[in-house]
Amino acid sequence: MRGFLPGVGIVLLGFVGGSFPTLAQQTSGATWSYDGKQGPLNWSHLDPAYSACSHGKEQSPIDIRGAHLDKNLQPIEFHYIAGPMTLTNTGHTVQVTPPAGSYIVVGGTRYDLVQFHFHHPGEEAVKGKLSDMNIHFVHKSAEGKIVVIAVRLNEGNPNAVLAGLWEHLPKTAGATDKVSESMSPAGLLPADRGYWTYEGSLTAPPCTEGVRWFVMEQQMELSRDQLRTFGALYRVNSRMLQSAHGRKIEASE
Ligand SMILES: [Zn+2]
Repeated sequence: MRGFLPGVGIVLLGFVGGSFPTLAQQTSGATWSYDGKQGPLNWSHLDPAYSACSHGKEQSPIDIRGAHLDKNLQPIEFHYIAGPMTLTNTGHTVQVTPPAGSYIVVGGTRYDLVQFHFHHPGEEAVKGKLSDMNIHFVHKSAEGKIVVIAVRLNEGNPNAVLAGLWEHLPKTAGATDKVSESMSPAGLLPADRGYWTYEGSLTAPPCTEGVRWFVMEQQMELSRDQLRTFGALYRVNSRMLQSAHGRKIEASE
């Protein structure tokens, strides 16, 4: 399932061209939402291209439990660099586009950081427990394979990188803003880089499978104000947990 991934492809085009289309334009599919008739239970009925949302057997997010420790799993090499960030309110989340040059290496393959975005509340659960929010760092290899790194955020101390980003949150769908001072997405990663990994999908239409997930074990914090600021924009922008269908979940530590 490495075929055409419309969302990410056009984000790149938008980045190169200097314009930032909304997610509705990116997917060129039917309009969807997080509630009501266009909500997650109906995604697959909205557009044939969204069929995997109901019929896929490797959907995300899932509840992380019963993971098998695999000491042969390699650490994720992070090569995130600082730079100016562009924020886009897609109508489904706030998406941050970093300048080109940030990437990870997993299993000897380079995956470029394409964008990262937020869900409120968090999407992936660990032993049944959801976090207050999460970040999804979306990466893509030269061959088009998608790797997403999930970082769970819970209420606690303020996060300095989020403080910089939140000053520039675009309030309306389609709006963009730019953080001109240099900041590094690395400030949104936990110090301990242990992870759980499994094979899943995009968590929003078209729910494309063939996505490798890494959920960081250590959680990060954000302040109550930071949590409320995002929650005021997106009260709920998360998909409900999907059946694991017996998928193998591995733990690096
Ligand atoms: Zn996401």
